[in-house]
Amino acid sequence: MHELSIAIEILDIVEREAAKHGAAVVRRVNLRVGDLSGVETESLAFSFDAVKGEKDLTRDTILSIERLPVKIRCTPCDEVFHGAGHMVVCPQCEGFDTQLLQGEELEIEDIIID
Ligand SMILES: [Zn+2]
Repeated sequence: MHELSIAIEILDIVEREAAKHGAAVVRRVNLRVGDLSGVETESLAFSFDAVKGEKDLTRDTILSIERLPVKIRCTPCDEVFHGAGHMVVCPQCEGFDTQLLQGEELEIEDIIID
């Protein structure tokens, strides 16, 4: 249960941030998850809902997950394109010298508190 441990970790971070700001309630957590992160959105949402009720602070917290597609830039020709992974060929110049711009994210973008 990979996603369950991630959900618990997110709640830990959210709790620390809420305490720092003296929040009584956490309304929403905005999360950014890249397609290469290995995280399943549905499974994470389910796990989060399963554990959030343990604390009054997060009982009604909504987890909003923004899915980020993989974005790759070709170094020689500067073409930016979508790909499925790390080892990809540039559709423009067929070069292999590419750099991952987006897709591995697993980060909290925003925590909305009251
Ligand atoms: Zn290229």
